[in-house]
Amino acid sequence: MELRGIGVGRGVAVGPVLRMPEPLPEPADAAHGGDADAEFASVQVALAAVAGELAAKGERAGGEAQAVLEAASMMAQDPTLIDDIKVRIDAGATGERAVFDAFGAFQRLLADMGGYMAERATDLADVAQRIIANLRGVPAPGVPESDEPFILVAPDLAPADTALLDLTKVLALVTRDGGPTSHTAILARSKSIPALVGVVGALDLADGTVVIADAGAGTVVVAPSDAQVLEARERIAERAAAAAAPTGPGRLADGTPIPLLANVGSPADGPKAVELGAEGVGLFRTEFLFLDSATAPTVDQQEAQYTELLSFFPGQKVVVRALDAGADKPLSFLNDAHEENPALGLRGLRALRASEHILHDQLTALKRAQDATQADLWVMAPMVADAEETEYFVELGRSLGLRTVGVMAEVPSLALVAEEVLESADFVSIGTNDLTQYTLAADRMLGTVAAYQDPWHPAVLRLVKLLGDAGAAAGKPVGICGEAAADPQLAVVLVGLGATTLSMTPAALGDVRAELAGVTREQARAKARAALGARTAAEARDLAAAAG
Ligand code: PEP
Ligand code: MG
Repeated sequence: MELRGIGVGRGVAVGPVLRMPEPLPEPADAAHGGDADAEFASVQVALAAVAGELAAKGERAGGEAQAVLEAASMMAQDPTLIDDIKVRIDAGATGERAVFDAFGAFQRLLADMGGYMAERATDLADVAQRIIANLRGVPAPGVPESDEPFILVAPDLAPADTALLDLTKVLALVTRDGGPTSHTAILARSKSIPALVGVVGALDLADGTVVIADAGAGTVVVAPSDAQVLEARERIAERAAAAAAPTGPGRLADGTPIPLLANVGSPADGPKAVELGAEGVGLFRTEFLFLDSATAPTVDQQEAQYTELLSFFPGQKVVVRALDAGADKPLSFLNDAHEENPALGLRGLRALRASEHILHDQLTALKRAQDATQADLWVMAPMVADAEETEYFVELGRSLGLRTVGVMAEVPSLALVAEEVLESADFVSIGTNDLTQYTLAADRMLGTVAAYQDPWHPAVLRLVKLLGDAGAAAGKPVGICGEAAADPQLAVVLVGLGATTLSMTPAALGDVRAELAGVTREQARAKARAALGARTAAEARDLAAAAG
């Protein structure tokens, strides 16, 4: 038997399934025995235990996971939440129910705020489940633990789950929900774990069933034959050998160079990108440096960060994006008004233009970093709608001394007027995550519309072609920096549509490099033509695979 889903990358894994335990049932809405103080005291013990356990796990995990787990630990000690729990227990609720209701109320509040805050709501639910499990004396739900390597099957993974994954044990991820830009997919790409998302029937797999998860083919083969297992193991060995092969510049089979660049969120990501063979940086998401800042960072602070990153890439290209604040990445010093639909609001360049001094400071800091290092600095604006906004940004950047200034193509309108945009912009970089969200009118944060969030959709590909054609006519570079560039088969199609560089999470560089090396430019173009003629994203995948 075979299940189908959307593969992330090209990895293959063979192993037994282990399912994520179901969430705990909702605590009964019953009254406690009468001793409110004793009830509250046991909740306090559980809160302290969970907070301590999360912090300790964070310390063991280190890195990004530590920040996620420390934030979760603090949620379990939040004084407002604790007060609310006490009020509910005093009014007669059991400890479990009070925790459930207090966390639930706070979760709804965050969810209503949308974007980044709504994502934190999922983390809050996870913390509440841990506290309730502790009160009941049962194991906490979440990522299962096992001494043997396994293939994790889950409805979807929350950020707190992914932070806890023991990567030495998880061979592959298979989820029922989620699209190619879901949290699970992004994690799988950044950690190089084979993954399949949107797998219908995944949750019917029983623990211990052996499966082959084949991301390249988009299949989960259930109870495979010995011959199938052997063949899968051979491919796993081939991939491991290819990953260990020396890195080199990105090239097609006919020698056409396609520089492979890295997406980074802080200067600390620089060394890893270099190690994995990135030929420069194609997207530095500067807003990630300042997500927790209450006030705008100073020119000096910014200069230090930019100089640090640029110094890892002497003689190479580094594309820095001006602050992309708003929607899923709000910055309190730029986005202070409530918006009903923040993704369609004062975001990216729009927000910067409304607070021009902040943009001015950032470009000034970048100019200083340009002068202080040997890197070839390119600067671009996010969320640009048309040629007028492009001219505004390019003129401002040039007047402040920046050498190479361009824009991101994330809003469909920009692709439709690409020729005019390229009259002033030095380059365009296509952000396929937002371009897909806006083309298909599907919120990239919303699981219920994840199926629309597929950059293989022919409507998205046709916009990429408009941009590629305009770039070729103007003799200017058109790169890709969205998640789509990290999908090896799609990367080939994007090159066939005219992309001149590809930028991605560094862990994906090896797979994309290997895939490009296997096709000529003519073959890439043939695959692109086939995909453009498809009716759906799934059909585009199949037609591209068969063409060329
Ligand atoms: C994109 O939208 O594709 C992109 C690269 O930007 P971000 O994911 O940071 O919005
Ligand atoms: Mg974007």
